[in-house]
Amino acid sequence: MIDVFWDERVLAHDTGSGAFETAPSELLAVQELHPENAERVRNMRSVLARGPIAPHLRWHAGRAADVAELETVHDPAYVASVRELCEAGGGRVTATTVLGPGSWEPLTVAAGTCLAAADAVLDGEARVAYALVRPPGHHAQPAQADGYCFFSHAALVAERARGRGLARVAVVDWDVHHGNGTQECFYDRADVLTVSLHMRHGPWGTSHPQTGEADEIGRGAGEGYNVNLALGVGAGDRTYLDALAEVVLPILRRFRPELIVGACGQDASCFDPNGRQNVTMAGFRRLGATLGAAASELCGGRLVLVQEGGYARTYAAYCLHATLEGVLELTEPALPDPLAYVPDDPSRGREGIVAARAALFPFWKL
Ligand SMILES: [Zn+2]
Repeated sequence: MIDVFWDERVLAHDTGSGAFETAPSELLAVQELHPENAERVRNMRSVLARGPIAPHLRWHAGRAADVAELETVHDPAYVASVRELCEAGGGRVTATTVLGPGSWEPLTVAAGTCLAAADAVLDGEARVAYALVRPPGHHAQPAQADGYCFFSHAALVAERARGRGLARVAVVDWDVHHGNGTQECFYDRADVLTVSLHMRHGPWGTSHPQTGEADEIGRGAGEGYNVNLALGVGAGDRTYLDALAEVVLPILRRFRPELIVGACGQDASCFDPNGRQNVTMAGFRRLGATLGAAASELCGGRLVLVQEGGYARTYAAYCLHATLEGVLELTEPALPDPLAYVPDDPSRGREGIVAARAALFPFWKL
């Protein structure tokens, strides 16, 4: 059983339309929705509600986070600035990150719904909880919006668990982009292990100075507790699973988390407009199964999944379904893959695994 937390108020965050994620272009006869739009999450909700795993899901209402909760991770002045910009009518915070006039409530509901999922697991009412929210959160830093993200959901969940007495929390992020915001929140701490598997894309603009390379291992007490797997472009199912098996699982077994937080995006899929990593539904099914099994082995099955990116409106929803099939330990694929045709090349993208093992060997003896 998976407990799903959902609040339709997140749909009201209006990111507008344009030349993909940038402002409207006079060159185009037809503008398109910003990639991070309500439609993508409406499809995720409907696939879960109508798909074969529907009997295994229990739906719960989300809620809004209050300002004090947001400030467990974010600087008070930053939180106030986001609210003020919404009240002033919204606008572009970075080249690609958009606020609408009505965005404040959806942003607080996205954060609060993740906290509701966390509390359900921490209270023992749920074993696996999944927060279906938007926008994503993992690029948001303590005082910086970035990459469609304003509040750092996985970090809020990890901080909640620490505040409620858990000693060690691990965040495993397989969104196709580097989880730089989560990394930044815990970079000098050993109590929250942050792991990001991503496409090698490097820094972007002033909002995203982190490179996501293997040598970003943490600082001070946090040295060794930040793990970056910058997988080469086109990595595919096998390389993602190898990264988990060869780097992430051995570190998790030594770290011994009391809760695992999965920053669960589907933009590593083979159809995503923002990613080039060629992961298929079969790959996502195995990723979900592996993380669920790790939680069962290490922390009584306690797993909180928060929705991150995933911008192929059809395939991301299908890949989410496949991910949850894996978490549910279903032995046979419940939902067939109607689209994938990309052949998997297990040798592709492995340089990120080799680099991570070398960078982290002094700490974890990989
Ligand atoms: Zn992403």
